[in-house]
Amino acid sequence: MMINLNEPIYSYDRLVTDAKKLTKQYDNIIKYVTIGTSHDNRDIVMLKLGVGQKFLICSAGVHGRETINPIVLMHIIEYYADLYINHKQQKIELLSKLMNPNAHLGAEYEQMLYGACIYELLQTYTILFVPLLNPDGYMISLMGFDAIREPLLRRKCQSMEISHLEWKFNARGIDLNRNFPSQLWKSKNTKDYAASENETKALIFLFHEYKSSGFLDFHSRGKSIYYYRNVMSDSYNIKQLEIANRFKEITNYELVLPELEIDTDDSGGNTVHYYSERFNKPALTIETVEDEATFPLDVEYRDSTFEELKLVIFEFGSMII
Ligand SMILES: [Zn+2]
Repeated sequence: MMINLNEPIYSYDRLVTDAKKLTKQYDNIIKYVTIGTSHDNRDIVMLKLGVGQKFLICSAGVHGRETINPIVLMHIIEYYADLYINHKQQKIELLSKLMNPNAHLGAEYEQMLYGACIYELLQTYTILFVPLLNPDGYMISLMGFDAIREPLLRRKCQSMEISHLEWKFNARGIDLNRNFPSQLWKSKNTKDYAASENETKALIFLFHEYKSSGFLDFHSRGKSIYYYRNVMSDSYNIKQLEIANRFKEITNYELVLPELEIDTDDSGGNTVHYYSERFNKPALTIETVEDEATFPLDVEYRDSTFEELKLVIFEFGSMII
């Protein structure tokens, strides 16, 4: 595989290079699109995977320090693309082996079935992956504040006196997941207004450009699933719970209680708030990595997270069709 989950430091530049390589290798099924530019002038990359007429949106890296999910989504893109391309060949090989009564085909058959499912998924959907919405924050958390090239922005970040390892924000010190216009959004000071940030606008434009069927936003930590939306209808929340329960079965993640949707004294304005209120379609926040993990997140979490999320995205597609 091209995306190496054991690579010690997965930089933003590396992610961009890999995204271009994947597009080249799987050019009939992956498209590379830039959906916006961060405040420190980094392109925000989207990879469109699939040939379907319906759309799913998956994002990660909204918070800088949550460094596991971006590479995991990249790996899933490659893994799905590979299964899609090889599915037909696998089927032919398996059929020929079936002629041999002595062959043991259990594992191969299972793999072919899985490949067939992914093939169907990508015939039905085009999945819009934004693996790293906040490239500046991500680079701060990996490399420190010197990663910010614009001196004014760098000084602003440093003045907040937060360790770069704990950095959640973008290069203007804004938490993007409190920046989306929604009913529970609250201004935190006189200069604070919703959708003020380039990264927020990029995702909002994406939401509006495609008529999508659902949205997943991957965060860390907690191995938990936020599904309940206080401002949405009962029927909306029943569907959300049904999806969340299925995700719980396949990942062993916990469901977050409805009353804990937003912490006391915290504000709404999450990606999923905007999406659900605007489009009335399923939108879940999934927190990968155990709650006790410390920052920087151990790269060891990548493998298990990959195994969990590859099933979640697939299952989401089949549940909301
Ligand atoms: Zn987060």
